[in-house]
Amino acid sequence: GKEDFGDKHISISRDDVVVGRILGEGFFGEVHDGVYKSPSGERIRVAIKTCKDGSADVKEKFLSEAGLMKNLDHPHIVRLIGVIEVDPVWIVMELYEHGELGNYLVEQQYILTTATLTLYCLQICKALAYLEGLNMVHRDIAVRNVLVASSDCVKLGDFGLSRYVDEQEYYKATVSRLPIKWMAPESINFRRFTTASDVWMFGVCVWEIFSMAQQPFFWLENGQVINQLEAGVRLHKPQQCPPTVYSLLTRCWAYEPHGRPSFGQLVCSFSDIQRMELEQ
Ligand code: ADP
Repeated sequence: GKEDFGDKHISISRDDVVVGRILGEGFFGEVHDGVYKSPSGERIRVAIKTCKDGSADVKEKFLSEAGLMKNLDHPHIVRLIGVIEVDPVWIVMELYEHGELGNYLVEQQYILTTATLTLYCLQICKALAYLEGLNMVHRDIAVRNVLVASSDCVKLGDFGLSRYVDEQEYYKATVSRLPIKWMAPESINFRRFTTASDVWMFGVCVWEIFSMAQQPFFWLENGQVINQLEAGVRLHKPQQCPPTVYSLLTRCWAYEPHGRPSFGQLVCSFSDIQRMELEQ
């Protein structure tokens, strides 16, 4: 019911949504594009997530992502428009026409400049600094979960694994479908997820950006990753990655969570680097 979403009202009417073509396949079902007519009469292009399984517990899991997103308001986080809670349940979000950053990096690899790639990193970092301030851990930071709104604006999405954590606390994951090659050692070993483990994952996401969406550790099996990390092995510097950025990445990949910078510090560093890249 509506109480699941707390005090902020996010239910919208299906009559105000026109469904278009299929954009892709999500975990719960197809994702379509479409148009939403807002109460003020404005027509907004939207992405509509559907849920093919109609059972109550699956629907609840599906809608929990919207429950988290409804409280978020940031220029670099995917914006929730609303949900339709009556069957078939839908989540309606703002549409970002260029799709996933991973695919965009491959398509545009020959025209993306180092300054633009650094800008994307800065924007994702700002989104994560905002979550850090809300004590929220994302747990799935990767280019497949970043959407491209325009050539100079990206948005962090996919809050399907996100959780609120109390200060000094952490989220102990029970699910087994975890993105091992992006994960911090303590997440792999103990399923321990904190803002510091998000910092590690952000480092891997920056590596993906400067590698034009190569898979991190593609040369390893999931089961081999932790031994490599514990032996001190880290992802190498991608060719296009400035040494200043790579030195930040090595700090994000400190074995001890306390040894890693905060997102606040990373925003400052990436702002400086971004400014220098623009001047070149
Ligand atoms: P899930 O997290 O449920 O697996 P995704 O968020 O990955 O689903 O969505 C599946 C696909 O739909 C994505 O690969 C992307 O291409 C597309 N998509 C999802 N949300 C949007 C959006 N807001 N704007 C544009 N495309 C989107």
